[in-house]
Amino acid sequence: MKAHDGMYIDGAWRPAAGTDTITVLNPVDEQPVGQVPAGTAEDVDAAVRAARAALPGWAATPPAERAVLIGALRDRLVARKDEIAETVTAELGAPLAFSEAVHAGVPIVVAGSYAELAAAHAFEETVGNSTVYLEPVGVVGAITPWNYPLHQIVNKVAPALAAGCTVVLKPAEDTPLTAQLFAEAVHDAGVPAGVFNLVTGLGPVAGQALAEHEGVDLVSFTGSTAVGKQIGATAGAAVKRVALELGGKSANVILPSADLAKAVNVGVANVMSNSGQTCSAWTRMLVHADQYDEAVELAAAAAAKYGPRIGPVVNAKQHARVRGYIAKGVEEGARVVAGGPEAPTEKGYFVQPTVFADVTPEMTIAQEEIFGPVVSIIRYTDEDDALRIANGTVYGLAGAVWAADDAEAVAFARRMDTGQVDINGGSFNPLAPFGGYKQSGVGRELGAHGLSEYLQTKSLQF
Ligand code: NAP
Ligand code: MG
Repeated sequence: MKAHDGMYIDGAWRPAAGTDTITVLNPVDEQPVGQVPAGTAEDVDAAVRAARAALPGWAATPPAERAVLIGALRDRLVARKDEIAETVTAELGAPLAFSEAVHAGVPIVVAGSYAELAAAHAFEETVGNSTVYLEPVGVVGAITPWNYPLHQIVNKVAPALAAGCTVVLKPAEDTPLTAQLFAEAVHDAGVPAGVFNLVTGLGPVAGQALAEHEGVDLVSFTGSTAVGKQIGATAGAAVKRVALELGGKSANVILPSADLAKAVNVGVANVMSNSGQTCSAWTRMLVHADQYDEAVELAAAAAAKYGPRIGPVVNAKQHARVRGYIAKGVEEGARVVAGGPEAPTEKGYFVQPTVFADVTPEMTIAQEEIFGPVVSIIRYTDEDDALRIANGTVYGLAGAVWAADDAEAVAFARRMDTGQVDINGGSFNPLAPFGGYKQSGVGRELGAHGLSEYLQTKSLQF
């Protein structure tokens, strides 16, 4: 795997300020696949200065020209999609077919959507006797996680560039090679020097320095709620804009009129996908008491079909953490009907696809984000009970509702405290705003709403 030993700052790969490095491991066999520099506050400072210097020129570039460059970036991602998939597979451990379809495929669609939005968006509007200009917020500090290495980057960088902002990216320490490949694509697309900058490094060092830097106007963070709270506090103290895309504990609500087998099978597949490392995964399956035993049987059978082909989780810490949650579920009295806490292989960070029955809403496994291939099946007695359980966590990122007809499902979905709901298996829409209610976050990504996060208004009265 190709790795740069420098940072991408001001349009070139430059040596890092320090000598520390990060070794990237393949989660399948725990073998090294590459090494990148571990950036410090000094690297972050150089990158923020470059981004600030490039800001006036980029902000003044007509949106149509910015759109052309984002389109060129998309084309570079298309040209290198096989390499992207191989890189994500090497550092995240995702099965290659999934990397090709989702980890490489989705960011191409999102980048394309922002090429179109940059060209079509109204950056100026008239309100009575005022002209309102939508101007870029400024320098963006983007901090991304490893679970969808390229998607999380494109979700921030594409709208930021479309808005006329410049960016410093600190990607996850576990998946920096995909980020370096993205920086190459930005460079080859012809995006001007300083508009996009990359500093690889550790969260508490490079990430924190970026979030605290006074030259950053907006911090956009995706990751754990614990770190998100810290970043929100830092940004608040400095009166900086902040966008937080945090955890989830989403409910898959199966109403009695639904096609039970379909709802259960799609629900289990949703959780097992990406080895359960999806913030919007429907990790709680809510089933009516009368259908409970049948649903448990269906879910256990569905999970048993997966096995190790779901791929490992990302690292040793997550491997221990996820299996710790499974052990906790057993300890608190839930019943394992598929999988379990034992590692299925000696090498690699594999976790057994696990289904818990007899889960009650207050159990740890029904409240906390596990971020692994674990689904908890919870019994409800009537719709109000189902709603209470669905809304009964600190999170509110996503969810699903299944019923005989869409209208019945929509009526339930409208009462859920959550940012996205799939109705009867509705498919992913790259233009629909994505983001959380409650502690799942602040702000929205994707589509026009995602672009608005990077804009501020200036009103001129006549
Ligand atoms: P995390 O620590 O929140 O990582 C997210 C990003 O923030 C990474 O780039 C990380 O750098 C950086 N970071 C860490 N500490 C920081 C700090 N003090 N200041 C600034 N940036 C900092 O998440 P994680 O440790 O990788 O995963 C832990 C849990 O978070 C998971 O089990 C899951 O529950 C949740 N998670 C949620 C999402 C999501 O999409 N909502 C994604 C990933 C994880 P490093 O890579 O160096 O840590
Ligand atoms: Mg971390």
